[in-house]
Amino acid sequence: MKRTFEVTPWNIVTHDFKPEDKRLQESMTSLGNGYMGMRGFFEEDYSGDTLNGIYLGGVWYPDKTRVGWWKNGYPDYFGKVVNAVNFIKMHIKINGEAIDLAKDQFSDFELNLDMKKALLTRSFTVTKGDAKVAVEFVRFLSVAQPELSVQRVRVQNVGSNKVDLVIDSAIDGDVKNEDANYDERFWEVLSTEQGTDSGNVLAETTPNPFGTPRFTSGMEMRNVTDLTADKVAQPSEKEVVNKFTGVLAPNESAQLEKRVIIVTSRDYDTQAAFTDAMHQLSDKVAGQSYDELLEAHEQVWADRWNKSDIVIDGDTEAQQGIRFNLFELFSTYYGEDSRLNIGPKGFTGEKYGGATYWDTEAFAVPVYLGITDPKVTRNLLMYRYKQLDGAYHNAKQQGLKGALFPMVTFDGIECHNEWEITFEEIHRNGDIAFAIYNYTRYTGDTSYVLNEGSKVLTEISRFWADRVHYSQRNKNYMIHGVTGPDEYENNVDNNWYTNILAQWTLKYTLQILKEVSPEQAKKLNVSEDEKKHWQDIVDNMYLPYDKDLNIFVQHDGFLDKDLKPVSEIPADQLPLNQNWSWDKILRSPYIKQGDVLQGIWDFIDDFTPEQKKSNFDFYEQYTVHESSLSPAIYSVLAADLHYEDKAVELYERTARLDLDNYNNDTVDGLHITAMTGGWIAVVQGFAGMRVRDGKLHYAPFLPKKWSHYSFRQVFRDRLIEVDVDQDGSHFKLIDGEPITIDVAGKPVELSK
Ligand code: BGC
Repeated sequence: MKRTFEVTPWNIVTHDFKPEDKRLQESMTSLGNGYMGMRGFFEEDYSGDTLNGIYLGGVWYPDKTRVGWWKNGYPDYFGKVVNAVNFIKMHIKINGEAIDLAKDQFSDFELNLDMKKALLTRSFTVTKGDAKVAVEFVRFLSVAQPELSVQRVRVQNVGSNKVDLVIDSAIDGDVKNEDANYDERFWEVLSTEQGTDSGNVLAETTPNPFGTPRFTSGMEMRNVTDLTADKVAQPSEKEVVNKFTGVLAPNESAQLEKRVIIVTSRDYDTQAAFTDAMHQLSDKVAGQSYDELLEAHEQVWADRWNKSDIVIDGDTEAQQGIRFNLFELFSTYYGEDSRLNIGPKGFTGEKYGGATYWDTEAFAVPVYLGITDPKVTRNLLMYRYKQLDGAYHNAKQQGLKGALFPMVTFDGIECHNEWEITFEEIHRNGDIAFAIYNYTRYTGDTSYVLNEGSKVLTEISRFWADRVHYSQRNKNYMIHGVTGPDEYENNVDNNWYTNILAQWTLKYTLQILKEVSPEQAKKLNVSEDEKKHWQDIVDNMYLPYDKDLNIFVQHDGFLDKDLKPVSEIPADQLPLNQNWSWDKILRSPYIKQGDVLQGIWDFIDDFTPEQKKSNFDFYEQYTVHESSLSPAIYSVLAADLHYEDKAVELYERTARLDLDNYNNDTVDGLHITAMTGGWIAVVQGFAGMRVRDGKLHYAPFLPKKWSHYSFRQVFRDRLIEVDVDQDGSHFKLIDGEPITIDVAGKPVELSK
């Protein structure tokens, strides 16, 4: 655990700048508006270690796969989110010398991410020779106009001598991905235009041999300043710059505003339409003041917070954690663009490449259902439906029927080569099916499941029916050679989680097939023999179970391991993935993230309290939570079992995972999909929210350290507020028709 920011309810703020923590601070001050996002890297020169990352939603590159030995079926490419043209770049020169905090002497440093307003500010006072200036940067990515990035820099002479000031405001297309497999650049600059206070760069992703689309992006800047514009030559054919100069007497200050419009070929059919839009949007925002632009942006954020803020009193760490989770989640995805999804690192880093994982269905769907309009989740489901062709391709690659949705993808085709994950972590197919059920159960809207959803379910079921095999010896169906959610075990046989999800999917599909219209049934074309076979698998699926321990066994052989609890591992050997060899991890009993317990969470109402207790008690002691996705699920189960202290401890771990750098990897970027965990732990865990038979149920408790918490939840055209304090729990209908909910087993009527 490492904390680099102060604990405050609405801000991520530090007054301490340590170059060794630069990347960590950059990750933690990331901004995004769903359309694009960026790490909190410095706009001005910085010669120390940094990851200058800006990413545009849906703009990716198929980087040729790199492996030691090629194996049949490996995906040809590894999809990467492209590090975009750097449009926030500036050089700030004092008496001819560029400010560079890696070398300069400075004081009064503050780095401050205001989560309420989604605004990043940074200020410091720097001394260069006999000059002393105070510098303040502000920036935001507008949610009111998603193509717009706004920056403002103010420089004040706080010394006693006059200062020559130069601000170079640039757009630089010479950018590379740190994670490029072959050290290649993914952008080709197509054209540049440089004026005195404006300029633009158009760049296209480099050609690829895999037939995936190329993307063009265009960035146009307009600079507004009281400094004097100097006409200068272009620094290179990939970069444009506007130079502004002035002389500041002591106490005098100057300011520059940089507005950049970013468009991509994803939204326009032709190059002409694309450049027109870039110019028009630039003109449009040029007519608005900085304050107007900021106000429109803040207003949208105010609405989001009004709908979904979670307030926690009595524990500022917990409060800051949950707000940071929601802030970064909304910055990544608020559902405006149905072509996009939620990458595990969002726009905050390159690792995990901004691609779509099972994280969306398993962890994000339950949260988006509770905080946004149902169409947002429906779009996430449609995203998979539209990628069915890719899923057929993936199944075919494995010699199997039906559809195998990918573990890592941009376009439906598996695009990550680690075989133990992409070939074997097939439980994701079940998670995608489960999300359809989850959406339908929560919203009551059957329009998806009875149409597109039934197609997805049918094709997933065809995959499962082909992937299982019948054991003549045991007289049941088995699934061999898989990786469960616990990736610290590979190529195992009969992973309980995978088997139960396969069984459940077949059962659910058979049920849905009875409900679809005759036309839809005809289109799905599932024969009676096929249905009979699926039913046979449902009835005879092998689910490993140990009678003595009364637990579901994670997979065959798990109980023969050297079963020593995590508490026996010396602290300096954790996290295991940074200290142990891979084979030692695979041999050990240590569980990266919920596996059996992930399944118990999915089907939490289907198990007895004794079953839940024995499984939780057994597996929790071996779990290292080295996947950020893990602690929230355990927190819900702990709350369900009334292990309240454990539930709170796991909430803290999930909500502050990045703020406290629990897994020592936040330098790479934030764990965006795990940012769902805080909400899951509070709403499903502490408030005990479940949906049963179309009705909301709660069974709240108040964590000892807290004096109160409240949240708002969207449910079937209603907005409901839940307040829990020392006097108990209180429910209010904020919006919508009267509704009856269930609180600790008793009906409660809510009306306005
Ligand atoms: C987890 C996976 C997850 C991936 C992306 C891995 O560390 O084990 O479950 O899909 O990260 O978040």
